[in-house]
Amino acid sequence: MSKPKPKIKKEAVPMSKQDPKKRRRNFNEVAQGYTKEQVVAEAERCLQCAKAPCVKGCPVEVDIPAFIDLIREHKFGEAIKKIKEKNSLPAICGRVCPQEVQCQVYCTMGKVGDPISVGRLERFVADWERKQQPEIPQRPASTGKSVAIVGAGPAGLTAAADLAKLGHEIVVFEALHKPGGVLIYGIPEFRLPKEIVEAEAKYIERLGVKMKMNSLIGRLYTVGELLEQFDAIFIGTGAGLPRFMRIPGENRCGIYSANEFLIRVNLMKAYAFPKSDTPIYVGEKVAVVGGGNTAMDSARCALRLGAKEVRIVYRRSKKEMPVRAEEIENAEEEGIIFEFLTNPRKFIGNERGWVKAMECIRMRLGEPDASGRRRPIPIEGSEFTMDVDTVIIAIGRTPNPIIQQTTEDLQVTKWGTIIADENGKTSIERVYAGGDIVTGEATVISAMGAGKKAAKAIRKYLKKN
Ligand code: FAD
Repeated sequence: MSKPKPKIKKEAVPMSKQDPKKRRRNFNEVAQGYTKEQVVAEAERCLQCAKAPCVKGCPVEVDIPAFIDLIREHKFGEAIKKIKEKNSLPAICGRVCPQEVQCQVYCTMGKVGDPISVGRLERFVADWERKQQPEIPQRPASTGKSVAIVGAGPAGLTAAADLAKLGHEIVVFEALHKPGGVLIYGIPEFRLPKEIVEAEAKYIERLGVKMKMNSLIGRLYTVGELLEQFDAIFIGTGAGLPRFMRIPGENRCGIYSANEFLIRVNLMKAYAFPKSDTPIYVGEKVAVVGGGNTAMDSARCALRLGAKEVRIVYRRSKKEMPVRAEEIENAEEEGIIFEFLTNPRKFIGNERGWVKAMECIRMRLGEPDASGRRRPIPIEGSEFTMDVDTVIIAIGRTPNPIIQQTTEDLQVTKWGTIIADENGKTSIERVYAGGDIVTGEATVISAMGAGKKAAKAIRKYLKKN
């Protein structure tokens, strides 16, 4: 008689985290990752469904059951190779992808218990490989064709990696001094250590991609000038421009845009002061206006920089927050205070021009708006004053505009995003675009998916011409 199969555990293997009391004052990574035993135990929960429904939730189409099966067999090196066939940034995706609304939504195990923790498994094998020395796939002979990639965010880096693997000459032009886009300047160290972004960008360089930093396209070269030097162009310039509230008092001292705040904390390393010489001022009572990843990251950075009380002021309810569920839980554990259904109306300053309070109003939710979320409606007469000495505005980002302003014939929407078809083709022959610059602010993996689709379309075009 064959041995009965062990019962599959309904609960996911938990991942350990830094103690909230300690981590609220340091920038070390919160989530600690699985051990070897834990990763295998979690992989053993996977049902290996023949139709692999999880794969349809992955914009870059990683063969999820196949890499999980390899983990089950302790073949970590082969598992990471399997992932890298489709995804060149696995340690990043394993940390910041909102799997609960992507691959894990379709997981069969999710119908009877916890879905398989796909991101945690991916993160383990990517970290395991980084400690060894990533293997570089052999490059095919040069095709003699060249592609310029504008912007080194997840969209641009993915397009660059995929095209380099085909033997094309790839040059990435990036405005900042480091590659990574939001991964390097926006998402804080405690969620995504920068050494990981640097290592994954290095891997892409080792595929043969040339990185030209401090190169602002639209100023250094126009798109027209790049078209004279390259066979095709991919634009992945993201949505890095802050949106403001346009209410009285918004220009008072002590009020930051989340973009400025996060760039100074992360890219300019204010968090490492006094080791770095670029500090940032944060008061005792901080309000962060907004409810997305940017708001949450700003709030948790402000807490770590010494604020006594940090409030997230959001005009909708917790259910509508466009943020990874895990990060809401982490923020709550750290003591971030949530003021839901609340919106500022004006900022009140002291005699020296510094913000000292916010006049707010309570909201209720009405019918869904164009975004599908219920529209917040002010409750007249519910105004109140909230004492604050620092405010961070995190209500969204709009597309970076320089390329659009300097490229004749490039069609854009009224919001400034570049118009491109489902393969990234724009209104200009040989020019492709993808990521936040096309969709408006979205996610790392959707930007990577767009970079991948455009790379496929560029490959097809270069084959024919
Ligand atoms: P970006 O990442 O914005 O990269 C664009 C790059 O282009 C930048 O490096 C920029 O400097 C460069 N550039 C711009 N203009 C030019 C030019 N003219 N010439 C040369 N270079 C140029 N998503 C998730 O999935 N999970 C998360 O947890 C998450 N957290 C986030 C936290 C924050 C604080 C923010 C701001 C966003 C977060 N997101 C998250 C969203 C995600 O980071 C973005 O959707 C993603 O980075 C978009 O990728 P991209 O390549 O299109 O653009």
